[in-house]
Amino acid sequence: MLYNIDFDICSIIINVIVFICLLVMKDMHRRENKLFMIVILTGLFSAVFDIISAQAISSSSRDQLLLAELFTYLYLMVHNATPYIFCIYVTVISGTYYKTPKYRYFLLAIPLIVDFLLLLTNPFSNKVFYFDSALVYHRGDFMNYIYAISFFYIFFFVIHIMLHLRSIPRKRVLILLLFFIAGALTVLFQYFFPYILIELFVQSVVYIAIMLNTDDELSMMDTSLGIYNRSAFIANTQKLLRSNNTLDVILIKLTNITSYRTLLGYDQLAAILYDMTQWLKENCSPVSLYTIGYGVFAMELYDDDFRDQLDSYMNTLMDYFSESFNYKDINISFETQLLAIHMPSDLERLEDLLTVADQEITINQPLSLLSGKDLDPIKRSISVDHAVRDAMMNDRFQVYFQPIYEFRSGAYHSAEALARLEDPILGSIPPGEFIRVAEKNGTILQIGELLFEQLCSYISKNHLSTLGVDYVSFNLSSVQCMQKDLTDRLWTILNKYGVPAYFINLEIPEASAMENVEAMRYTIEDLRKIGFSISLDDFGTSNSNVSGFYDFSFDVVKIDKQILWNGDMNDDGNLILSNCITLGKRMSQSIVVEGVETEAQKEKLRKLGCDFCQGFLFGQPLPGDAFLRFLRENNFRSSL
Ligand code: C2E
Ligand code: MG
Ligand code: MG
Repeated sequence: MLYNIDFDICSIIINVIVFICLLVMKDMHRRENKLFMIVILTGLFSAVFDIISAQAISSSSRDQLLLAELFTYLYLMVHNATPYIFCIYVTVISGTYYKTPKYRYFLLAIPLIVDFLLLLTNPFSNKVFYFDSALVYHRGDFMNYIYAISFFYIFFFVIHIMLHLRSIPRKRVLILLLFFIAGALTVLFQYFFPYILIELFVQSVVYIAIMLNTDDELSMMDTSLGIYNRSAFIANTQKLLRSNNTLDVILIKLTNITSYRTLLGYDQLAAILYDMTQWLKENCSPVSLYTIGYGVFAMELYDDDFRDQLDSYMNTLMDYFSESFNYKDINISFETQLLAIHMPSDLERLEDLLTVADQEITINQPLSLLSGKDLDPIKRSISVDHAVRDAMMNDRFQVYFQPIYEFRSGAYHSAEALARLEDPILGSIPPGEFIRVAEKNGTILQIGELLFEQLCSYISKNHLSTLGVDYVSFNLSSVQCMQKDLTDRLWTILNKYGVPAYFINLEIPEASAMENVEAMRYTIEDLRKIGFSISLDDFGTSNSNVSGFYDFSFDVVKIDKQILWNGDMNDDGNLILSNCITLGKRMSQSIVVEGVETEAQKEKLRKLGCDFCQGFLFGQPLPGDAFLRFLRENNFRSSL
């Protein structure tokens, strides 16, 4: 009986094409691609060996017997190894490979070793296959074991995929299952029709589908630097974390890169970054290198082979970045932060890692290495980030009120609304901290509205004016000040609760007023049109030139507490305080000084011609009910 080798020939052609495509299109540093390449090679060699042995068997010539036997052995060994290699391949795809102790792969190989032993002892036992006296090929009883071993690996492969469905993209799961279905059907077909050698052909067709479905590395590359981009970083890290791997991530942040871009232009800086990337690739190979932001690189160590080299990589990087770069005779000193983050013990979630990569970390050192305990402030800001999101969902923000004292009447004529957050895990979080976090994570607009709504609801329920209060101040964050439809949104909320706009004073921080003077002028005019009064908050804190908004007429200027406290220290401080009050008076109708804690400070401010005072001397910020009680007990202006 003659074997039909046509399918095997087609399989060779397909495997060669897939092999070339892999070489040209895929990154062969990646273990996943390397293993797939081995699978293709086993398919290729299996087909070659199969053809030679089939031809030799079909010739029925005694001279060819040795050749037939030899290539049948080679074919069976290489072919039977394929499902085992495919099992390793699928563990790399699911990301479990890196955390699995290597001896387990040896245990997994035991059936394959049994397979090899059966083949190696076959010349004596003739139990797998043999040639009869007429030189006809026969399968022995043990051939069934060999088939059973292949099925064992195929089932391992399917079970593994099913257990790690979360870590493998859905489309890939379908294609890999196609391998299983096609593999199982052709093994059965081959069992019943041994003369039609179709199995390798079907496998190679499935390999095309798998190749088409491997990661599209072109879209994962940053074309200007020639390394993986942010999407690749996200996909790989997500996969590793979902399959419970531990990994070390090194973040390299060039914190002053934007000033160099302004100075040198985009193209020159791109050339410098390219050289840097080449250096990183050469000196930190084989660690995966990514660019995940402008001037932010990430390196991931998850492979046992080089995990323990973290310290040596960090030292190499420290040495490299401590030197200044020379580009076309220009000396460039990047301010660099190197962070070594262990996941999950330092950070658990990918989102947190990205927050660390994206957010500015203020350290006044040209080169800093952050690991272990140094990461605590970053971890805190991440916990606050979670607390803020959680508080938004669970309506946990509270508005407190701090009374503001008026010198002229000797009573409390207004109050400042101050946000409070009590988190079930972190306890009370200061607003200075959570407002900054909310500005960075984009929740500030919603939080600002929630707080404004709470304030309006409080004002509409309680008749504060009968208790001597003329208005309540509400803090706008810098980001809210940039919101295009801010006025409309606040107007809608005012109307919902029937609160008149004149009863609310909006405080704009000096730093945000400085940032974009013209935009701020427009925002303030718009807010004024509907009746709000406006304060300039934290006056004196920003180092920049205030002349930009000299001609703004604010209703109130609030002098920052630090300016008052500095006045207690020395004469210079006193001079600055009185100058701030003079300047503030030119820009507004009245002055509030914050942070008044002592009688002496109060008297000093009275003499300096200050209109209003706010501070712990008069009262701490209080919850709504307590503030009403405070007014009833202390505010006598209504009876003046
Ligand atoms: P701010 O607007 O300048 O508010 C005054 C801060 O000074 C408040 O701190 C107040 O509790 C504190 N303070 C007042 N008198 C004294 C005093 O005599 N001694 C001391 N040591 N502190 C005093 P707080 O409540 O921690 O708020 C800090 C900052 O957080 C605020 O500064 C404001 O910029 C921001 N903030 C507070 N609530 C909100 C809000 O609802 N929205 C926005 N966007 N920012 C808010
Ligand atoms: Mg304020
Ligand atoms: Mg202030």
